[in-house]
Amino acid sequence: MSSLLPVADALERVLAAARPDRPVFELPLIDALGYVLAEPVLATFDVPLDDNSAMDGYALRSEDAARPLPISQRIAAGSTGRPLAAGSAARIFTGAPVPAGADAVVMQENCSERDGMVEVSGEVRPGQNIRPRGQDIATGEQVLPGGRRLRPQDLGLLASVGLARVRVYQPLRVAVLSTGDELVEPGSTGLLSGQLYNSNRYTLAGLLRGLGLEFIDRGIIADDPEATAAALQQAANDCDCVITSGGVSVGEEDHVKAQVQRLGKLDLWKLAIKPGKPLAFGSIGDTPFIGLPGNPTSVFVTFCLVARPFLLKLQGAGETELHPLQLTARADFTVARAGTRQDYLRVSLVVQEGQVVARAFPNQSSGVLSSVSHANALAVVPVGATIAPGDPVQVIPLDALFW
Ligand code: AMP
Ligand code: MG
Repeated sequence: MSSLLPVADALERVLAAARPDRPVFELPLIDALGYVLAEPVLATFDVPLDDNSAMDGYALRSEDAARPLPISQRIAAGSTGRPLAAGSAARIFTGAPVPAGADAVVMQENCSERDGMVEVSGEVRPGQNIRPRGQDIATGEQVLPGGRRLRPQDLGLLASVGLARVRVYQPLRVAVLSTGDELVEPGSTGLLSGQLYNSNRYTLAGLLRGLGLEFIDRGIIADDPEATAAALQQAANDCDCVITSGGVSVGEEDHVKAQVQRLGKLDLWKLAIKPGKPLAFGSIGDTPFIGLPGNPTSVFVTFCLVARPFLLKLQGAGETELHPLQLTARADFTVARAGTRQDYLRVSLVVQEGQVVARAFPNQSSGVLSSVSHANALAVVPVGATIAPGDPVQVIPLDALFW
């Protein structure tokens, strides 16, 4: 009955069309945040390199622990000791290699030292307070897979295996065209009746840069077939992907659809998604094209759900990077009437009595962009579902999508 395309089907189609072939280049690890790793990184040595002490204290043989022991050496971080003489203990500090022969470290709080002797209290188990060689990463083990978007902690991890430079994919150059004669750039003169500021350009700049992609600003395109065609062709020539906002509905001022069809090929979908609905997907020459709706709230939602995974895949990101994290929360709202489109409510996740609760922004109209700014998650209301307060709902935290 419904000709609306489910979100999951749209996603499947765009992902099938994404053919990653990014050039690879090398850059200093310190500058690699947000880039996509072009190849797996394998460890060439054990991390840590030595069995080492997890505590400031004394290294000894556990079988010797019951009696006072002479302190036969001192091993600070950065130095190596000698093999531990039987019946003695080594003064040792956090991170220092445990000397051969010792099988335990007793933390200094459980030791008393006097006249070159140490006495320990409490039980001493073999292996205690020793971080074994290779416990983090063993030689030959994969440290990170190719296709990994490098997070801050990944930079540290790669440094820990000795890398100073990494091979990554060149970020996609993504052209953004904002269509609409009603649009005015902020910072220019005030608005006249019928005009509004071009907010999509800013949202999309943030979304793309948040993904580590290059935002190529092509400004406002007039609602005119020739201007639209010229701007689309130019963007397709210069960039790796073209994104438009607006102009893909069915009105006669919507020129994007017709011009992409003329210049390349296009699928136009009515997505079963709210906010959202019209979404165009195709190519101009070899350059992929995504036509987002004009409505600013719809731009945000359709970008996150459909364009984001597509762009990440095109960028060379691995499968595990593509799909947003979904969690279960308790609804703090009611959906009384089942819808025909999957609804993405703008919600705030808050913790109430130990439970994560999704509180809906009061005005869920697709014309209310503040709903997106105030939200920290989208709550997914499937087609045909009704929801009562307390019901479990799937939520997509927004901050996990961009960093
Ligand atoms: P359209 O799909 O071109 O008919 O646009 C749908 C709605 O989104 C209209 O109300 C437009 O004014 C609005 N809109 C389109 N582009 C933008 C933009 N770049 N910034 C803010 N609102 C926009
Ligand atoms: Mg328009």
